[in-house]
Amino acid sequence: MATYVFGHTNPDSDSIVGAISLSYLKNQLGEECIPTRQGEISAETEFILNKFGGKKPELKTSYAGEDVYIIDYSDYGQAPKDIKEATIKGIVDHHKLGDIITSTPLECWIRPIGCSNTIVYEMYRSFDVEIPKDIAGMMMMAILSDTVIFKSPTCTKVDTKAVKELAAIAGVEDYKALAMEMFIVKSAVDGSSARELNTRDYKPFDMNGHKVGVNQLEMIDISALDDRKAELLEDMAKMKQEDGLHTVITLLTDIMKEGSQLLVVSDDTSKVEDAFKIKLENSQAWLDGVLSRKKQIIPFLQPQF
Ligand code: MG
Ligand code: MG
Ligand code: MG
Repeated sequence: MATYVFGHTNPDSDSIVGAISLSYLKNQLGEECIPTRQGEISAETEFILNKFGGKKPELKTSYAGEDVYIIDYSDYGQAPKDIKEATIKGIVDHHKLGDIITSTPLECWIRPIGCSNTIVYEMYRSFDVEIPKDIAGMMMMAILSDTVIFKSPTCTKVDTKAVKELAAIAGVEDYKALAMEMFIVKSAVDGSSARELNTRDYKPFDMNGHKVGVNQLEMIDISALDDRKAELLEDMAKMKQEDGLHTVITLLTDIMKEGSQLLVVSDDTSKVEDAFKIKLENSQAWLDGVLSRKKQIIPFLQPQF
């Protein structure tokens, strides 16, 4: 029986590439694995797959009775609905430990570094498996995406070293220029509805019984959304109503200015104001230096609940 390998719901490049890179490694080690995805791929991920000739993993949202490896998350909130009926053989992740529990012993590779694909890279090294050129290129791009071209506070020396070594395997000289091309693709907002923007990189969190949703748009220049903030906030209020959320946040992260504009709709905005020591104006505030949801947003928000 093949084992499925997949990342979180609303998959980002780390989740898609991680499914591919981890599956290939496991296959080389004699364990039949199939990469899958829980949702549609982003324009950024499509750019990466096209650039290096990668194949889009098949869409699969139900895993009852299956063996699985999960990558880039460990929360039920980001897992398939029937994950409790699957056997989790392993977790590869770089987020806070989530609430998933397993019924059997598992393989666990969890480290506080910039990207799940950096961990997969280390796994290739420790099992002495050669990384094919195309997979190396995709892994490199996933790391450059997750670390925002090394600017994110989540980025470590392990990540920068992995990118350099993967770039050499992939035959890419100017990986920073290629990463900028990728972020230009990622920054496109024209023609996207408010809902599409508010859910592009959306993650639901359970904070002590309260549902909190945090979306992040990483852009080269967030001023492209200056005249759409009211529309975004209006749609966030609808999302809050529809999903019974306590708080909905959209982070407009400007990767050049290195900070994030926070858009907030909440039952209790003081929780957000206290978490970041800010005063919201028109449901907004600028957080200087904030690039990482996992390291600079969630750890401050969670204790408020
Ligand atoms: Mg991710
Ligand atoms: Mg990741
Ligand atoms: Mg991200």
